[in-house]
Amino acid sequence: MAQQPIKAHILGYPRVGEKRELKFAQESFWRGESSPDYLQKTAHTLRAEHWKKQQAAGLSFITSNDFSLYDHVLDHTVLFGASPKRFGKTPFGAKNISPENTYFSLARGNIEQPAMEMTKWLDTNYHYIVPELNADTQFSINAHDYLTQLDEAQKISSNVKPVLLGPVSFLYLSKARDINKLDLLDSLVQQYVYLLQELHARKIEWLQIDEPILALDLDDVWLKAFERAYAWFRTSRPKLLLTTYFANVSRYQSFISRLPVDGIHIDLVRAPEQLGPWVNAIPSHWVLSAGVIDGRNIWRNDLDKTLALLEPWVRRLGERLWVAPSCSLLHTPVTLAHEVKLDAEIKSWLAFADEKLVELSVITKALNHGVESVADELAISRAAIASRNNSGRVHSTSVKARIALLVTVNENRRSPFSVRQEKQKACLNLPLLPTTTIGSFPQTPDIRASRAALKKGAISQQKYDADMESHIEYAIREQETLGLDVLVHGEAERNDMVEFFGEQLAGYAFTENGWVQSYGSRCVKPPVIYGDVYRPQPMTVATAQFAQSLSKKPVKGMLTGPITILQWSFVRDDQSRETTAMQLALAIRDEVDDLQKAGIAIIQIDEPALREGLPLQKSAWTQYLAWAVRAFKLSASVANDDTQIHTHMCYAEFNDILPAIAAMDADVITIETSRSAMELLDAFGEFSYPNEIGPGVYDIHSPRVPTVEAMEKLVRRATEVIPVERLWINPDCGLKTRGWDETKQALENMVTVAKHLRKQFASTPQE
Ligand code: GLN
Ligand code: ZN
Repeated sequence: MAQQPIKAHILGYPRVGEKRELKFAQESFWRGESSPDYLQKTAHTLRAEHWKKQQAAGLSFITSNDFSLYDHVLDHTVLFGASPKRFGKTPFGAKNISPENTYFSLARGNIEQPAMEMTKWLDTNYHYIVPELNADTQFSINAHDYLTQLDEAQKISSNVKPVLLGPVSFLYLSKARDINKLDLLDSLVQQYVYLLQELHARKIEWLQIDEPILALDLDDVWLKAFERAYAWFRTSRPKLLLTTYFANVSRYQSFISRLPVDGIHIDLVRAPEQLGPWVNAIPSHWVLSAGVIDGRNIWRNDLDKTLALLEPWVRRLGERLWVAPSCSLLHTPVTLAHEVKLDAEIKSWLAFADEKLVELSVITKALNHGVESVADELAISRAAIASRNNSGRVHSTSVKARIALLVTVNENRRSPFSVRQEKQKACLNLPLLPTTTIGSFPQTPDIRASRAALKKGAISQQKYDADMESHIEYAIREQETLGLDVLVHGEAERNDMVEFFGEQLAGYAFTENGWVQSYGSRCVKPPVIYGDVYRPQPMTVATAQFAQSLSKKPVKGMLTGPITILQWSFVRDDQSRETTAMQLALAIRDEVDDLQKAGIAIIQIDEPALREGLPLQKSAWTQYLAWAVRAFKLSASVANDDTQIHTHMCYAEFNDILPAIAAMDADVITIETSRSAMELLDAFGEFSYPNEIGPGVYDIHSPRVPTVEAMEKLVRRATEVIPVERLWINPDCGLKTRGWDETKQALENMVTVAKHLRKQFASTPQE
């Protein structure tokens, strides 16, 4: 087996640092507490550290230009001179402003200009800054920073493989006004050609060129764009490794194979079935980079399985086989080294970025020098995999029995909506156009201080609980004074809508430093679902009862839905996501039942992440939506007819999944509309959404207090497409990031709108 060495590399490394050093440097710079120099030094140190780790793991290349001070797509906008003109003619030459400040103002806005738009990177929870192109856009290369990073890397190693986002993906992922994006293709590609020549002059052997949009359903026009763009790359340049990830790309295989590149990276974690087709028909001079280590999840690799997958092809490909993680490690936390509190057994099942580097080197060594050369490493890995497979903590017979019985469970509510609606009307006795909020009220410094003190052990659990009760009491009193109709307890006791439930469910583990970049300096720490999930005891009932005892008005019980919990966790990979979703659904179902038994008449099950779980390729949508909707319905259908079930969704493109949203059959959906300026409502109207709906009338991302007139206009628009009897009035989303003063004023205006419109509609009876 030992032929030419098989190479190991990564597509990218997390930027945040072991202890979020980048975040703290960014934020102190933004607060004006540290200099541009300090920020650049931190970035420089982090990059060097990342490269040295790759070297220490014996990788064949160090991967450069994967770092960013905010976002790599934004860096490409700057690299190609495409910063929006609205930020000034020569944003990087402005006097008295550091280039760093100018750069961040693109991402975060400044006094004069709102920030560039941000959106999710394919199906991840990483957000990129959307390039903003228009007829005036004139690309011109500005490679200073790119080349500086490359120089740094070349000082550390002579085998540097820089990364560049490919031109077709860059355009596809951008937003263009007054112009067809593809009209900009040729002029953009010219800039790529200059850069490629420069890299060639610097003796770069391989360039990694990312074209992630190959994971999507592309029409002919976009496929042609690839041909046209890549045809320019026949000049002097490094060899090109075209990287794809997150999906099977073999359907484009014959087309991709004709592009003038020198190899392809494919994701064999998401789509292992594409390995055979690719090896069998790969152009004879290409390398194949096999993405075998999960770059999206935190589980230790089953090395035996990976070796078994690759071994049959080693002889065929020889040194043309490369081994890599499935995608950039940007989506995983940095290291397990600082996880001292994590249970040792569970920890042995995990691999963060640094541990994945080691796995990569073990796999390559085994392929190059035989499994005997890594016998010890394989033994440790086998033991960990066996411990995970057989652990009594992973498998619960009672959960499995309940899941097996699911085929017999009807996920529908007892009666159709019209029947439920009558019963709910009778017991809730709400006015026309009822007013409510989405759940959270401001997370004040006081609340956060209590939580921090509890965590440090500075206050007792009793003191903390008492603090939380006083915040709940305050929120209820304020809502009563404001005259809202359906109240909420305000979620003071929740730091995060998923972690709060995860902490109370069996099958969950938590890390101390498992941070993953979400956008800019914002990181999230998804909890880990390692075992069968169930609810050992009620999670929200006491709090809901306490809140309800403070008011005669209904106070909503507030839950996070199974799909959102799934979507915002690291999910186990030893069973289908669907099965894990069903386990979560049953846990929420138990909670819904206990809440209604405790006298809670309205229960909201939030599903803001339902849309983001949608597969990248349309052919897989139906299947996902079927189980996602079933999971929601399973949690809700234990409700009696007179228990009103709400759901809430926000900040996503909902138009294409309206039938699935309707099929969830929530009695009321509250939904954010500011993003699409209420266009969403037209879609709901056209589709004739059958149940009650509360389109958001108050954009909670802005500290601006919306006026009565503005909100009234929005509600009126809503009444044009949805019968007024089925409309609710509420903000777009939770208010946790706002302050109390603005919140009170905004809600006061919102209640005024409701009162005003009620009078009008009462005097003009509806059909
Ligand atoms: N109930 C949650 C809140 O109000 C909903 C948050 C969300 O939609 N992301 O904070
Ligand atoms: Zn929301």
